[in-house]
Parts: sequence; structure tokens; C-alpha cells
Amino acid sequence: MLLTSLVVIIVAAFVIEAVLAHLNERSAHSRPDPLVADLYDHTERERSISYGGAKYRLGLVSSTISTIVMILALTQGWFARVDQFIADRVENSLIVSLLFIAALSLISWIISLPIALYGTFVLEARFGFNKTTPRIFITDTLKGFLLSIAIGGPILAAIIWLYERFTDRFWLYGWLLVSGFSIFMFMFGTKLILPLFNKLEPLPEGELSAAIREYCATQGYSLSNLFVMDGSKRSTKANAFFSGLGRSKTIVLFDTLIEKLSVKEVVAVLAHEIGHYKRKHTLALLVASNLQTLAIFALLGWLLQYPELSEALGAASPSFHLSALTFFILLTPLQVLLGLLNNTLSRRYEFEADTFAAQTFSKPPVRSALSKTSADSLSNLSPHPLYVAFNYTHPTLAQRLRNVG
Ligand SMILES: [Zn+2]
Repeated sequence: MLLTSLVVIIVAAFVIEAVLAHLNERSAHSRPDPLVADLYDHTERERSISYGGAKYRLGLVSSTISTIVMILALTQGWFARVDQFIADRVENSLIVSLLFIAALSLISWIISLPIALYGTFVLEARFGFNKTTPRIFITDTLKGFLLSIAIGGPILAAIIWLYERFTDRFWLYGWLLVSGFSIFMFMFGTKLILPLFNKLEPLPEGELSAAIREYCATQGYSLSNLFVMDGSKRSTKANAFFSGLGRSKTIVLFDTLIEKLSVKEVVAVLAHEIGHYKRKHTLALLVASNLQTLAIFALLGWLLQYPELSEALGAASPSFHLSALTFFILLTPLQVLLGLLNNTLSRRYEFEADTFAAQTFSKPPVRSALSKTSADSLSNLSPHPLYVAFNYTHPTLAQRLRNVG
């Protein structure tokens, strides 16, 4: 009964995702909003449609493969077999859980590798976006592995230990650990982790830094942590982001952004990022995500007492990792709902940050920066509203331009 529910959930999630992606792919062929209709000439529009189509097909192949593997693993009892294989060789239940999670991560990485390679070296390359060399791909992968072992390993071990030691209060202690870590990473992740993958350098003195200093002075925003990142190492796409709290607040501009936009447009993007900080969006999103984690831990702590969760996967005796796996599959509908809520909130914040930039700096460069970065990444100018609701963290270009006015 429980196993059937798991299969139904996985199939339903696959169908919903595929239908939304299909609607969105079809929608790309329809006439865009008049506000953005002139953004592409005929050739660029064709390129944008074929880029969207290629990403849609790759996504469909990827989700089909993972859905089939997951259904086979569930119905054939593969999870219980992996668990048994490890438990036959290792005594300690905590180590069994860690090895099980490591084995699953490794297997899912191997399954997704061909898709990742194709996506980077064929699809993105065909449209001229990819700058990642095989060497960068390999070193990124190795660094990612080492980080998961060095950081993910101890945290997982601590969570499982907390469960074995304080079964009843596990949900609270587990949540404190995870949310403490997420706040730490939010504050210092950009300084500690990002430099392992990218070079972060202070903005060089010049016309741009002078313009940025001038704008920041009008906002009383101290510019101690502004960095330029070598995003061009991996992709031609331009970006910028804000992270941190209080004194650790940091703004990172991709070198590709500075290369493609005018001085005023870069200041407009920076003003948008400062808007996220001034309007306390980053703090609100951090609080929201920690509250959601609390709800998830409370549910996990409550449901882990039922051995049926492990038994549904074909195990003879319950274990933390098998029950947690069932739990996270059961959680999928709630995760979809939370994703919808989080994306809605995020899109509202993007509007507010755009408005902030338009009011405190100037409208025309906000508009042109939005249009340029959108056109440059061949984005879909007429996405389907349902797809936007579920998947977009940013409003569509037409909506953003209308909001800026
Ligand atoms: Zn933003």
C-alpha cells in the first residue's frame, strides 16, 4: 500500500513536470508580449526557440531516466538490497547509514553524468554559451566530491547520531544543527566555498568603480565587500548576486556582466542587489527556509517511529536511512507546494528590487540591463504562465519591464 503510494507520487511528479515543460515549450512559439516583441530579430528568435527546445528535450530525457530508475529501484527492492549488502559488512549502524547515503549519491551521480556532459559540452556549446573545459569540469567534480565528504559527511553523521541518541527530541536538535549550519553558510559561504571554484577580486579602480561608489554613497551602503568573479571561466552568461548578513554582506558581479553591460547598466544591477538587502529580502528568505526546515524535521521525527517506512522498501528491519528515503519521497507533494510558495515570494521580491533600483538610481538602465541580459541568454520571451508559477524565481522580462514602467 505504502509502496504503491510512493510509485504513484513519483509518476505524478514526473507527469506534472513533463506537462508543464511541454506547455512552456509550445508557448515559446507564440507571439511574445508587445513590450518585448522587438528584443530579438528573426534569427535570434529562431535561435531562442531552438535553444529552449533543446533544453526541454534534454530535461525530458533526464527526468524519464531518473523516474524509470526510481520505479525499478522501488519495485525491485534495490534499496533494501544495497542496505543489506552494506549491513552484512559493517557493524556500526551509523556507518551503515553513511555508506548507504554515499552509495546512493554516487549511483545517482553516475546516472546523471551523461546528461550533465551532454548539457555542458554539446547543448550549451552549440549555442555558444559554454566556456567550461573538460579540465574545469573534472576539477569542479573532484572539488564537489571532496566538499560533500568534508562537510556533508560530518553533518549527516551528526544528524544520525542525534537520532540514535535523542529519538524523541531528534527533530528539534536536528533542526538546530541544520539551520545553524545554513545560517553560517549564508553568512560565510561566499567567502569560504566560492573561492575554491572561482577567483574573486576587488573591482579595479576606474569609471565603473567611481560610478558604483557614487551610487552607494547616496544609499549609505558601505562597499567593503564587492567582488568581480571570473564567471567567464564556465559560461558566457552574465549574472550578479547578493549574500550574507550584517557585516558579512557581499555583492558579487560576474566579469561577463561588466563586459556586456554599460557602466550605468552595471550600477543598475548593483542597485537591484542592494535593493534585496535594503528591503530585507535575503533575511526574509533565510527565515522562511529555516521555518520550512523546522516543519520538515518535525514531520520526519514523527514519521521515523513507524517501521513501515523502511518495510515499504523491502527491508526486514527498520533503519534511519531507508525510512528517511521513504519519508522524502512522501514529502514530494509538500515540496512542490512549498516550491510554488517560495517562487511566488521570490518573484515578488524581484519586482521590489527592480523598483528600488529604478527609484534610487534610474529607470532606463534598469530596463536596458534587464533586456540585454535576457536577450543574451536567449531566454524564452513568452513562457507559459503555469510553468512560470512553478519554476521561475524571477518574473518574466515583460512583467519586469512593465513593473519598472
Ligand atoms: Zn534579484
